Amino acid sequence: MQRITPQNLRTPGPTPIPDDIVEAMTNPMINHRGPEFGEMIHKATEQLKQVFMTKNDLFILTASGTGALEASIVNTLSPGDRVIAATAGAFGDRFVDMVEAYGADVKRMDFEWGGPIDADAIRKALNDDPSVKAVLVTHNETSTGVTHPVEDISKVVKGEFGKLFLVDAVSSLGCIPLPVDAWNCDMVGTASQKGFMIPPGLSFISVSEEAWEAQKTAKMPRFYFDLTMAKRYLETGQTPFTPNLSAMYGLSRALDVLLEEGMENVFGRHATIGQFTRDGAKELGLELLVSDNAYASNTVTAIKVPEGVDQKALLGKMRTEHNVVLAGGQGRMSSDIFRIGHLGAVAKEDITEVMDALKVVLPEVGFKA
Ligand code: PLP
Repeated sequence: MQRITPQNLRTPGPTPIPDDIVEAMTNPMINHRGPEFGEMIHKATEQLKQVFMTKNDLFILTASGTGALEASIVNTLSPGDRVIAATAGAFGDRFVDMVEAYGADVKRMDFEWGGPIDADAIRKALNDDPSVKAVLVTHNETSTGVTHPVEDISKVVKGEFGKLFLVDAVSSLGCIPLPVDAWNCDMVGTASQKGFMIPPGLSFISVSEEAWEAQKTAKMPRFYFDLTMAKRYLETGQTPFTPNLSAMYGLSRALDVLLEEGMENVFGRHATIGQFTRDGAKELGLELLVSDNAYASNTVTAIKVPEGVDQKALLGKMRTEHNVVLAGGQGRMSSDIFRIGHLGAVAKEDITEVMDALKVVLPEVGFKA
């Protein structure tokens, strides 16, 4: 296969992989039932708990982020269970689809795309329906570039009503603060190809005591994602099934790098680059989808396609003429916005390159500032 020229990959995952992590991933295969793997998984699990800010159990699964989210559902719920799934974007919608596919009785709560999920509306819905067992939310809605107020939602879901709280943190964990224990989240799932700066193929999931309690009676079908099996195997330094060893090497290196930098600094770096991106877009005369900066994501920015601009031509020219790869929209917003990913290994220079290229390309595709 011909080698692909490195690009300024500004999609919200997969994200570019630093050279030392690439190097770590070239380590030779080892016996995943042997002592070297045992040492590696125990250390990585403990380090991941620091990133999740949790003392809960935590598992590394060989699957993309969706696997972790599916694990949160099938390990806690039974067909027919009443759940609230709040959505304000394509990934919120997917969480709804997933829990419906497993037979839950879903009360879907739709919020405006580009705005936050409203904790008060969830309080009202929980007041109206005491039979609800769990609430599902997305922390960072990648399709719109909104970070939802999980802390406020948790105060309602856990603090006032004591329901199970399942959180999709695929595009936020390790980039935007989500202190799992302080915010009392029962299950939180994320993935390797975002803030962790490694390829797709691993996902991580934390499990609270309450989630384990729910697991005892949960009847949704599960096998690959049965976390009792994952727990039993982890005690012996193994995974039930063959793990993605190369990604595990990368993860080990990435966790050393992240923890050495310090999570507060990592969060601060993402906040700075997020604001830098939003400011840069506004300086070009572009309009952000998220009008309230308080909810603007520090991992991905969604920009409205200006009137008269051909979004496909814009993304095409950025890629072919400037080597900058941006993302389009998703779901019902697929052609209304374009998105800039700024998570994981990203420097200000990478974003400056994006803005410089946009300045050239936008007028070529119909933009009148
Ligand atoms: N949830 C969110 C918020 C995401 O951003 C993504 C992927 O981008 C997913 C879920 C799905 O993750 P994966 O494609 O790794 O299965």
